[in-house]
Amino acid sequence: MLQVTDDLIRSVVQEVLAGMKGKPVAEAVPTGSWGVFDSVEDAVKAAAKSQKQLEKLGLDARKKATDCIRKICIEKSEMLGLEEMEETKIGRLKHKVEKLVTAGERSPGVEFLRTNAFGSMNNLTLEEYAPFGIVGTITPVTHSLPTLANNAISMIAAGNAVVCNPHPSGAKVACHGTQLFNQAIHKATGIDSLITVIGKPTLESAQAIFDHREVRLLCVTGGPAVGRAALRSPKRAIVAGPGNPPVVVDETADLDNAAKSIIFGAAYDNNLLCIAEKEVFVVASVFEEMMQAMTHHKAVRLNAEQIAKLTKAAFATGEGGKLFVNKDLIGQDAAVLAKQAGVSVPGDTELLFGETDESHPFVDHEQMMPFVPFVKAGDIDAAIALAKKYEHGYKHTAIIHSRNVDTISRMGREMDVTIFVQNGPCTAGLGEAYLSFSIATPTGEGVTTPLAFSRIRRSTTMGSMRVV
Ligand code: NAD
Repeated sequence: MLQVTDDLIRSVVQEVLAGMKGKPVAEAVPTGSWGVFDSVEDAVKAAAKSQKQLEKLGLDARKKATDCIRKICIEKSEMLGLEEMEETKIGRLKHKVEKLVTAGERSPGVEFLRTNAFGSMNNLTLEEYAPFGIVGTITPVTHSLPTLANNAISMIAAGNAVVCNPHPSGAKVACHGTQLFNQAIHKATGIDSLITVIGKPTLESAQAIFDHREVRLLCVTGGPAVGRAALRSPKRAIVAGPGNPPVVVDETADLDNAAKSIIFGAAYDNNLLCIAEKEVFVVASVFEEMMQAMTHHKAVRLNAEQIAKLTKAAFATGEGGKLFVNKDLIGQDAAVLAKQAGVSVPGDTELLFGETDESHPFVDHEQMMPFVPFVKAGDIDAAIALAKKYEHGYKHTAIIHSRNVDTISRMGREMDVTIFVQNGPCTAGLGEAYLSFSIATPTGEGVTTPLAFSRIRRSTTMGSMRVV
């Protein structure tokens, strides 16, 4: 994997900005449509035509097309990462770049499509993975282009074409990426619009995709509202929904490793990952030692008064006293949050943390900010019970730091989550295997692969085709 250092980023930013000669990022979009459409009807029409062409060209063309997407994600990661950062204004540039490289390198592709054979002396049955046709996809602002690229690789590998309604605040980079992907795919295969994207996406255009009769399958990645909207649609929906990943630390844990891991995972892209550590439950006997360990790795502890100030800025009260996360602070740097807490911290601070009680809004809400609340639990049973309560039944991600295999197994069983990580950062749950930016939680497909976007078809031959 490409090593992204601060020096590399600085030089790339300078290079990109110099190359643009002062033009705003959005003007760097190439001319021509190349998959960007105003209307869902036009997008579906173009996707349908492209999908038919793909079907005729077979598996080789799918591989060529997905290789084009991978290559652009890797080779143009600095430019596109910078565009994503400038447009969304959340997260960290280094991680925007890294997420694109990872999407290019590790998204699951055609290698997942295996034919299964069954048979007896007189019968040969084959099961194959076939495309749905057109897949409608909704992508989040937290990783706009990485999600689209990753979805497109798996969906095209399965033989589909894609119609995407990106988040409005990440639409420009989604459009630019789509145009680059389609131009390269056209050069390699002659097909021009395997990926289509709505240039000015709205809730209405999302609904039009949900309702379009030629869109056979939906894949939505986002919070609770979009998940509910997709599940109301009469067609099959793969829902990659929200999470609120808890961490449990017990008295057997390697506390230094726990601290390093929590800081790495929770600070990654300023806590925008749906799998990121959001709240920590530590058994009382090692609580203070754990808090100390955190301070050794560029994390700054806030006191009760500072946490109260930050909480006031980070949450707004809506109807009936319901709290909402303040969007202006989502994905901002730790130093920016610290200012809200009335404290000045070094610019390279990775994470803020502090002690709260369990009923604190930072525990209950998926905050997506680099402040992590730590709650003291009486014992391991209490810690696991709290983790279960505040995961909210999303069945998304949970993490434990422990050397007790019985405790690890018990928490794994009780949490019943899609990704369960032991003794590492949340990113290890994706990092060591193939990766998807759409982890389907309520609908159960898990870390999505081309198989999630395929129909299984069977063909049976009687009396021939067996040569053994
Ligand atoms: P969001 O829910 O605000 O938006 C996600 C997408 O849904 C956007 O494209 C948005 O325009 C669209 N949308 C929102 N409401 C809609 C509705 N009623 N009908 C149709 N479309 C609608 O989320 P976000 O801020 O962009 O992303 C963060 C959320 O996504 C977090 O909750 C995070 O956990 C989740 N997420 C989950 C995964 C996963 O793999 N499970 C991955 C990334 C993000």
